[in-house]
Amino acid sequence: MAKTLVFLEHHDGAVQKGSLGVLAKAASVGGAHGVVVGSGVRGAAEGLGTLVWVADDERLAAPLPQPRVDVLAKLVRDEGYDTVLFAQSVLAADVAAGLAARLGAGLNWGLVDFDGTQGRAPQLQDTVVVDVGWSSAVRIGIFRAGALDAVPLDGASELKDASVELEDFSLLAEMVEQAHAEQQGPSIEEADVIVAGGRGLGEPEKFALCEALAKALGGAVGATRAVVDAGWYPYSAQVGQTGKTVAPKLYVAVGISGAIQHKVGMQNSNVIVAINKDPNAPIFEFADLGVVGDLHAIVPKLTELVEARRGS
Ligand SMILES: Cc1cc2nc3c(=O)[nH]c(=O)nc-3n(C[C@H](O)[C@H](O)[C@H](O)COP(=O)(O)OP(=O)(O)OC[C@H]3O[C@@H](n4cnc5c(N)ncnc54)[C@H](O)[C@@H]3O)c2cc1C
Repeated sequence: MAKTLVFLEHHDGAVQKGSLGVLAKAASVGGAHGVVVGSGVRGAAEGLGTLVWVADDERLAAPLPQPRVDVLAKLVRDEGYDTVLFAQSVLAADVAAGLAARLGAGLNWGLVDFDGTQGRAPQLQDTVVVDVGWSSAVRIGIFRAGALDAVPLDGASELKDASVELEDFSLLAEMVEQAHAEQQGPSIEEADVIVAGGRGLGEPEKFALCEALAKALGGAVGATRAVVDAGWYPYSAQVGQTGKTVAPKLYVAVGISGAIQHKVGMQNSNVIVAINKDPNAPIFEFADLGVVGDLHAIVPKLTELVEARRGS
């Protein structure tokens, strides 16, 4: 049985849904502990239904990878963890890669499943799912965003202090500036509902239609690469092969053709609704519900109906 440590990434005092999904998966196949790293982060580590190590130190305040590698490498060595799992994020990718180099361990990424010894990961633009393994003593894995449900654990919650011994070279990098993208509502990684817009919107201003529908549904706005490349919407909203992988309960694709590179980022959504004026658009081949028509007429009406239903 794997002795697994899960890196619990947190924002605004709470552990991210993606990390909780990885923790739940790891716990379902064996013993799983978590680790929360940062400054003033004890609150985020509480009540997670398992043992969570807390590395709380002001030198860990900035989200820089190397000090986190120090903390995790020491925990792995001292406590004998043989598996370290992460939910996909920019920080997780850096920490996992640094940890793999430090421990001489193998790193598999893009996982969607793990059985305690082997993982599973889609390959070749998601046309096949393959078993992936490790030949190293320690296994390191990064799960795909949105691949797992954040089922709460019902075990006993326990916090333990992790000792923070940082290497001199780990403190050489300094966070000079940190910017937060202005955003209302949930991020596309966290949202249960995503309303995504594509080139069919016609012009950037028409993203207001997606924003209004997303707001009415309590969701987030996504975008295709075509509109991100055109500067209509920020890259942080891009869904697909070169953007984010999402798996919300509901994905509404507005004026999106359904190219394979977009599909691989959203095909695991529970319910896919497509609104497109072309009945032969590829998106209708994998949508659960298709509406053939002009989005400019349909989306405002839909928003109105949702608002009316929510208001009643
Ligand atoms: C290496 C590589 C990586 C890529 N990575 C990504 C990625 O990560 N994410 C991604 O999305 N794409 C990616 N692409 C691009 C991808 O191939 C497509 O070009 C892109 O997804 C198309 O975006 P779209 O659906 O917005 O535009 P289009 O393909 O132009 O589709 C627009 C759709 O809107 C419909 N439409 C037009 N007017 C209306 C209207 N009034 N009402 C209703 N429907 C209307 C049209 O019928 C059409 O189906 C990548 C491509 C490559 C080569």
